[in-house]
Formats: sequence, structure tokens, C-alpha cells
Amino acid sequence: MNRFVLAAVVAISCLGTAATAGVTEQDLANDENSTADVLTNGMGRHLQRYSPLETLNKGNVENLVPAWAFSLGGEKQRGQESQPIVYDGVMYITGSYSRMWAIDVKTGEELWQYDARLPEGILPCCDVINRGAAIYGDNVYFGTLDARIVALDRKTGKVVWNKKIADYKEGYSYTAAPLIVNGLVITGNSGGEFGIVGEVQARDAETGELVWTRPTIEGHMGTLNGEESTMTGTLNASWPGDMWKTGGGATWLGGSYDIDTDTLVFGAGNPAPWNSWLRNAGEKNDGTGDNLYAASRLGIDPKTGEIKWHFQTTPREGWDFDGVNEVIAFTDKDGNKRFATADRNGFFYILNREDGKFIAAYPFVKDISWASGIDENGRPIYNEENRPGAPNASSDDGKGQQVFAVPSFLGGKNWMPMSYSQKTGLFYVPSNEWGMDIWNEPISYKKGAAYLGAGFTIKPLFEDYIGSLKAMDPNTGEVKWEYKNDAPLWGGTMATAGGLVFFGTPEGKFIALDDETGEELWSFQTGSGIVGQPITWEQDGEQYVTVMSGWGGAVPLWGGEVAKHVNYLNQGGMVWTFRLPKKLASAN
Ligand code: CA
Ligand code: CA
Repeated sequence: MNRFVLAAVVAISCLGTAATAGVTEQDLANDENSTADVLTNGMGRHLQRYSPLETLNKGNVENLVPAWAFSLGGEKQRGQESQPIVYDGVMYITGSYSRMWAIDVKTGEELWQYDARLPEGILPCCDVINRGAAIYGDNVYFGTLDARIVALDRKTGKVVWNKKIADYKEGYSYTAAPLIVNGLVITGNSGGEFGIVGEVQARDAETGELVWTRPTIEGHMGTLNGEESTMTGTLNASWPGDMWKTGGGATWLGGSYDIDTDTLVFGAGNPAPWNSWLRNAGEKNDGTGDNLYAASRLGIDPKTGEIKWHFQTTPREGWDFDGVNEVIAFTDKDGNKRFATADRNGFFYILNREDGKFIAAYPFVKDISWASGIDENGRPIYNEENRPGAPNASSDDGKGQQVFAVPSFLGGKNWMPMSYSQKTGLFYVPSNEWGMDIWNEPISYKKGAAYLGAGFTIKPLFEDYIGSLKAMDPNTGEVKWEYKNDAPLWGGTMATAGGLVFFGTPEGKFIALDDETGEELWSFQTGSGIVGQPITWEQDGEQYVTVMSGWGGAVPLWGGEVAKHVNYLNQGGMVWTFRLPKKLASAN
């Protein structure tokens, strides 16, 4: 290199450093291809959780070793469901009780910690978890259990702004990773068991000022730039009386962004209360009692918050089959742009990406009882005798007819994200095989109190396992292989071009499987249950893998007959980072 070229290179790299404004829209859009960082929830806005890295592969994964571990410390060791973010040599993680850390990715040393000061009366339904941060510009963002969204300076951890999403005293909270699109921070809300109203909100990422809001339940008004915009749906078109006012539909798992169609996709949870007889607008099954847009996926215009399309998985939902599960954009074998989503209700759906229209559905768990299938319009073919009966006014406790329904209310699949391999064309779906006794009871709405009108007992379907990781072909619905696990699976999966599928178990094992056969190729005992979401990236020519360990989440809160599979598990709170040392990368 001659002196002139050297000088030019130095000048450019200095310029690059001086001009840095942190993470750009372009960086976020390119996240699924950039292997040196992990900038988005889902390892790319399409949420595929697929890495093109193949340095680590089937032939050398046995040489994967711990690089460092980091303890979340304190007495706040509860479920750790976070997906880490990696940028510019720093890892950002969130933890139980609304805490966040910045960690040096090379050494595992803490750079800063932020603890949200939570009020006494927070009302999280299902453990004090958090599912991860977002990054944009020089800020990192995360939501807190008292239903706030906080922007922190990524270098110092100092608060840039802190805004209220909703009133925690009414039962609202926040646990999902925020989504950043075109300079907006986009959030949902949690609290579907308290008669709240689901909503998606978009804020200016720099200032935190609200730009638009979109409620998920028909009859409620949206806003744009501080003024009312349009009503969601048509008042009372699918809800009787005033039930829509406390209609649920929490957007508690956050959303995704499909750049190809310029559409945000958010899911809405169960309609409230669980007792579906109170939300029945007629016996005709003509759509007047569907309770839109609860238990639905919504396509939303990112500029205005207007709903572009909707697809309801469970009309007049009555089993707590929230419709929030992640929607993954992919291209099918014929080159069609599709969405895939595995619903709580036990069916795996393929939708058209342009308009959300139904393409196909396949059962992904065994012995589904509430519906015999999905018809050509995407509507469930109900087994009405498997709907828990209306409360019985003449009995002492008011209990209606009890039924045994499959899946249980915790779902064929709950929040834990599946992944999609661009190499095999398969989805890797963490699922559970269980059912429940469920019955309805009388209920009336009371601010800040549980609003279910139902009781339940969860039961495993099989003696030897509940958890089931399945490799599914989205073109046929065929399950290519299955990995069974005693305890219910509650963490995410990740696929890599190296032919590996990573996931963890409540028993504490972090595992790499062969993506074509399901054969276990590597595992490591992390010391507590894994309910987190693995990531991988490349640092100094070596491939790294990280997962958080720390048992908790919803499963241990609801005993039933599942308890004996999990009640011996120990809590924890660790970040485990592994690397494939250069000298071992080609050892095999
Ligand atoms: Ca990346
Ligand atoms: Ca729910």
C-alpha cells in the first residue's frame, strides 16, 4: 500500500468514527444479513432467527466452548426470556423486574446497569419477565412492567426519555421487545387477563412523542398526531352491548415489519373475559359474535396506524387462545411471498403476505379437540361440545359444564419464537403437548382485577414428555422430525447455515441439533432452566453463540398436573456466551 492510499484509508476510517450516529434504518433493514451484529428482535425484521454463518457447523459444533458467563445477581432471579442485542462490541440484555445491562462482548464485563424503579402495585399476569431491547441511533429502548417505554443512552445507560404506555393500575404492563421502523418506536401492551384494551403505539424514537395509536378492539378510536383518526372496525359489528369497552386483545408479544409490503404485523390476544358466552352476539355463527380483532393478526400501515388487513385465528375465542404469536415472513418453494405463524390454538397457518389472506393451515400438536380442522376460508370447524359451557345460575358455585380441551390455555405454542432455515426450508417450532379441564364461572369487570370468568387445570397428554420441538415443512404441514422433552418447552429456537438448530430446555440444557435429522450434536448444562432466545454473531473471525438461562415464565405459576415435571427446577439468572476458537474451527 503506498503512502497516498494509506492516508486515504486513515482519513476515511477517522471520518467513519467521527460521523457515527449509531444504528441506522439501513442497519436494521439489513440485520438478517450482517453477521457481526444482532440489532433486532428475531435476528432480522422478518423474525426468521436464521444466521447465514456457517463457521460453526455440524462438523465442528462439538468444539463449541464457553467464552464467558455473566450473572444478573441480586434476589430478582425469575424467568429470563430476553433476546440479547449485539452492536459495536457491546451486548445489551434485559432481565426480570425490568432491568437492563450493557456488557463487553469480548470479556463479559459489565459496562452499565439500569434498574427501573417499579411501583408496588404492578400487575404482571405471568412472571416478571422481559423479552428484550431495541436499538436505534445512540439509544437503546425497552419496556417496563409498569407499562412504560424507556430510551437509554447506549454508551452510558442514562435515561434519554421515559414515557407511559398505559396505566398499570388498570392491569397494563409491558414485556415485549420494542420494534423500530423508520424512526418510530412501536410497542404493544400486556394485560389481557385484566379486561384492558389491546393497542399498538408509535412514538418518535428521538423524543418519545406519540405519533399514532391503534386499538385492537372494534369501537375504539385510533389517533394520529394528537387527534382522533379512525375507529377500529365498526361499533358492535361483532361484539354485543358494551363488552368491547373491556374487550382484551392485548398486543403483548410485540410485532414485526415486512419491508416488501411496508406492513407492520401485530397479533392480538384473547378477547376478555375468557367466558365466551358473555361475548356471544347470536347463535347463528355468522360473524356477529366473532369479537374482532381479538385473537387475530393485524396488518398495519406504519405511517398512519390504519389497519390494512386482519386474519382472525379463533373467532369468539373461549379457551384463552391468544392470537399474538410471531408472524414470520418467508418465500415458499414456488417463490410466493408468505407469512407463517404457529397459533396458541394448535394450528400452523400460512398467509399471503400482500393481504393477510388465508392460504393453508396444519395441526402442529396432537389430539386437538376444540376444532376438527380449518375450512377453506381459514375459519375453524368447531367442535361446539368442546366449548366450556355457560355458567350455571342454578348451581351453588355457578360453574358451567366442564370440558377437557386440547391444547391447554398455555397453547400448542406460547410466546417462545420458532425459527426458519433458508437452507432447509423448514420451520423449527417449540411446542407442547397438553390439555386442560376448563369451565366457566360468573364474572363482572372490576378495574385492576383478573377478568377471566373461567377456571382450569392443565394436564399433560403423554406420560413421558410435554415439550416437543418439531421441524415442519410449510409446503405440506409434514413434521420431518420431532425432539421430545420431559418439561414443557418455553424458550426460542435459532437456525444457522451451518446446519444447526439451537434451543434450551427448562432442565437447563442448551442444545444444538442437526437441522435435517433432529440428532443431538452438542449440549451444555447452564445451571438453571432456559426460557430465553439464542443468538449468534461473528467477532474477530470467530463465531459466538449466546443464550440467557434462568427458569421462570408462566409455566411454574400454573400448577396442575404439569407441576411434577417442573417443581424441582432451580431459579437462576445468567448470560452464557460460547465461542468456537479459531484453532478448533477446522479441527474436524
Ligand atoms: Ca445482523
Ligand atoms: Ca391470554
